Amino acid sequence: MTVPLDPSSSELHAEVLVLGGGPGGYTAAFRAADLGKKVVLVERYPVLGGVCLNVGCIPSKALLHLAHVIHSAEEVAAFGVSFGHPEIDLDKIRDWKNNRVVKMLTSGLSGLAKQRQVTVLTGEGRFTSDKTLSVTTAEGEKTVRFDNAIIAAGSQPTKIPVFPNEDPRLMDSTGALALADIPGKLLIVGGGIIGLEMANVYHALGSKITVVELMDQLIPGCDADLVKPLHQRIAKQYENIFLKAKVTKIESQDEGLKVYFEGEGAPESDVFDRVLVAVGRRPNGKLIGAEAAGVTVNEAGFIPVDDRQRTNIPHIYAIGDIVGNPMLAHKATHEAKVAAEVIAGHHSAFQALTIPSVAYTDPELAWMGLTETAAKAQGIAYEKATFPWAASGRALGSGRREGLTKILVDKETKRILGAGIVGPNAGELIAEAVLALEMGADAEDISLTIHPHPTLSETFAFAAEMIEGSITDIYVKK
Ligand code: NAD
Repeated sequence: MTVPLDPSSSELHAEVLVLGGGPGGYTAAFRAADLGKKVVLVERYPVLGGVCLNVGCIPSKALLHLAHVIHSAEEVAAFGVSFGHPEIDLDKIRDWKNNRVVKMLTSGLSGLAKQRQVTVLTGEGRFTSDKTLSVTTAEGEKTVRFDNAIIAAGSQPTKIPVFPNEDPRLMDSTGALALADIPGKLLIVGGGIIGLEMANVYHALGSKITVVELMDQLIPGCDADLVKPLHQRIAKQYENIFLKAKVTKIESQDEGLKVYFEGEGAPESDVFDRVLVAVGRRPNGKLIGAEAAGVTVNEAGFIPVDDRQRTNIPHIYAIGDIVGNPMLAHKATHEAKVAAEVIAGHHSAFQALTIPSVAYTDPELAWMGLTETAAKAQGIAYEKATFPWAASGRALGSGRREGLTKILVDKETKRILGAGIVGPNAGELIAEAVLALEMGADAEDISLTIHPHPTLSETFAFAAEMIEGSITDIYVKK
């Protein structure tokens, strides 16, 4: 029996059920609908967009834009243009971020869902069998019977259980983006992507920043030579950056959070107005009743899938943060299309050669393909070239000469294996390297491609010219 697709009825039938309305979930739902499927999208929050649109990628980029303007305005003083001290109106910033950035996108999504006749159910969903999902909605419990399901239920920030997590001054990324106030002293636990992006925002707004990172470098997944220009710049801006160090205890006190440290160079304790914990995210695999559907969830909470995004249950698929690292929206959206297309009978598979990473810090840091660290560890024969932005007219004219563009190629064939860029706009520039890798380009292809002058994009071609030996913008001793 086919039950009509009326969101107000207590039982619905979906050809494709999608659990989770983040970038992975809504992309899967929209693609499946475009391929002619009857789709129900279940999302616990009243707006679509998930962490990325509501409390992640998008609001953080809005605040990073403000940080960029504030820092740039300060820096041009050295070139002869001075502005006054910025006046910060937090209410106005929050209103702009929430209502004119985030809301524009999330309401756009609900319009896109309507246009495609995707039924959106608002409520917490849990599997009750391999064919049914129960959804706790404001109008009561509903059941969705499905032919196929795509799990896109995401991840959440990792909490450190011994910290006083009930104290609102101890924040995760959501709390930090809420911008409750501008703390005088802010401690960031975790020198990864979230920690350093939010450090940039709060520093621009006037906070004194301390970063504590467990490993021996910031952003541990990236090559150390690329992280160095970022580290050198923020070391001048921030109060402290402690590497190979950790927080052992935090006490809530009236005057602030008393933090105890262990490790190189760190004091025994210090008091902060707020602390941001950004030590990674964990998947939500154990929170969705997967066992009732017979779907395997591993110890860490990830759901294993094959390259068609199929779980161990043939008609149940999973995508995004919940299937594994890296937890990035652009991975989720690609996996989403694969899952929807496989359900529709297409021969799709997730076969991307790389998933680029970008830290929207200042300078930005972006890398793709093989890192040099991984090449060394795996004994891969490579050749590399690193073009210094100090030799780029465009970089100098922007007052930012610290950047680097590095390219790694196969020693024999000179085909591109990996690339990394540090400098303003690195996140935009890395896309060309990703395309080069996917197209199987070699150093000659890249160096003979005419890049517009003067641009930062030229630095990618210059790095390839260094491999080719045709570079004239710098002198490389033979
Ligand atoms: P992350 O893994 O990028 O960084 C966490 C950092 O915390 C690491 O450097 C780790 O060594 C450190 N750490 C772990 N435990 C620690 C401890 N006890 N004390 C001190 N340091 C500790 O994680 P994140 O920054 O929390 O981000 C979470 C996820 O969200 C990541 O998967 C990230 O890729 C994703 N994300 C991506 C973007 C982007 O693409 N620009 C932005 C934000 C978040």
